[in-house]
Amino acid sequence: MDFNVSRRAVLGTGVGLGAGLVTGTGTAAATRGAVAIVGCTVIDATGAPPRHDMTVLARGDRIAALGPARSVRIPGDAAVVDGRRRFVIPGLTDAHVHSSGIDTVDPPLYLVNGVTTVREMSGYPTLHEWRRRVAEGTLLGPRSVIASPLIDGSPSLWTGLGAPYVEVADAAQARAAVRQVAADGADFVKVYSRLSAESFTAIAQEAHRLGLEFAGHCPDAVPVTAASDLGQRSFEHVFTTWYATSGHEDEIRRALSRLVVEAGDYNGWLHRVHPLEVTAARTFDPRRAARVFRRLRGNDSHQTPTLVMHRVLDLPGTVDADDPRLRYIPAEVRAGWDFAMQEIYLDGRTPQEAAEHEELFGHRVRFVGALHRAGVPVLAGTDTGTSYVYPGFSLHDELELLVRAGLPPMRALQAATRDPARFLGLGSGTVRQGAAADLVVLDADPLADIRNTRRIHAVVVRGELITPERRDAMLEAVAAAARTVPPGVAVAGCRC
Ligand SMILES: [Zn+2]
Repeated sequence: MDFNVSRRAVLGTGVGLGAGLVTGTGTAAATRGAVAIVGCTVIDATGAPPRHDMTVLARGDRIAALGPARSVRIPGDAAVVDGRRRFVIPGLTDAHVHSSGIDTVDPPLYLVNGVTTVREMSGYPTLHEWRRRVAEGTLLGPRSVIASPLIDGSPSLWTGLGAPYVEVADAAQARAAVRQVAADGADFVKVYSRLSAESFTAIAQEAHRLGLEFAGHCPDAVPVTAASDLGQRSFEHVFTTWYATSGHEDEIRRALSRLVVEAGDYNGWLHRVHPLEVTAARTFDPRRAARVFRRLRGNDSHQTPTLVMHRVLDLPGTVDADDPRLRYIPAEVRAGWDFAMQEIYLDGRTPQEAAEHEELFGHRVRFVGALHRAGVPVLAGTDTGTSYVYPGFSLHDELELLVRAGLPPMRALQAATRDPARFLGLGSGTVRQGAAADLVVLDADPLADIRNTRRIHAVVVRGELITPERRDAMLEAVAAAARTVPPGVAVAGCRC
């Protein structure tokens, strides 16, 4: 299979799966009338203690009432969910996804996993079409905030790899690119690793002038503190930030400024930054880190660690070739995953580098703990679309890794609810009267063990109830779609 196979979908012309198939993913008509979750424990993700024996009443797309079960009147038309011994949390946000472009796969997988909002980190026309269909009710899917195609320097890491990207060689092209993606409807500008400092600064200025935010990778040529001061809203993954927390920062920055990468040589770039990452990790300086973290916090710059993605790339041995979730992944998508894994990530990795990657993953986890303790806001994101990171499912793995990094379960929950809602300007991300009726009903307490976010009983999305039976049917429909999706529909994976 060719990594370029999905150009048609990138251009928005290859989407053959129409709305007709979507009706097959639900077993019941929409239950938008009212939904009452009765007798539940509410964990509203504000940090307040859990409230027991509550009733949450959703009507339309809002929470109409929330109170002690004995005091909330349940209307006759309400679908009732038995909330006793169950826990209600806000719908989850995955703050870093790259959906495959297959409408019968990604949207339902997000929802059955309780992911009711996603931040798409590289935009293309199909994603905007999905959003229109979600709004008009012809596609059941999460809310989305959609990036521009990534804007990279010249030469770009993405040349010839099939993913949507824009290449800019200087400040004038950078400004023009920002105007173009704004005209195309991007919600924010995605910046990428090989931008020159001049182009990056021009993007920051032009985005600011147009009232657009920018987020993404911190370019190799720009220190994270400078990018943060220029207004970069979020930094993705755990790599570039730690150059600035190294006692060898000057030496690392000199090496970065000399770094040359050929067009499309993503693998070569990874190989060249690898020793710099190792140096940065081994020379972490807590006093420098305190200064850097203070600056990031002061600028309200967020970090999206995507530890679950790093685990795949750092510890490829943890990938399970028989993972039961693979039944939901179309063969073409999986082929793209394997191509990226072999050709981009692992090609030429020496045994010494493999050992260093193991070490790096430990550092990444500890680094996230340090970010958290310093009060730098952390968002839960997965980088779904990268090899063996699964839509919906992997967010729960990320929550588990955030807790392993040192976030208390409540903080991990907030990193997937209240905090991204505030970051994206999408409501409160909490459970309270008047908030969006995006809810997850769990069979076990996520504060006792964060892994319990996987124990999903039901999901409410914009007031629509996904019962356990409907959830099972949706999963079966995804498995069926994954077996039959025609080639040429998926968008190439691996867009970091
Ligand atoms: Zn990404």
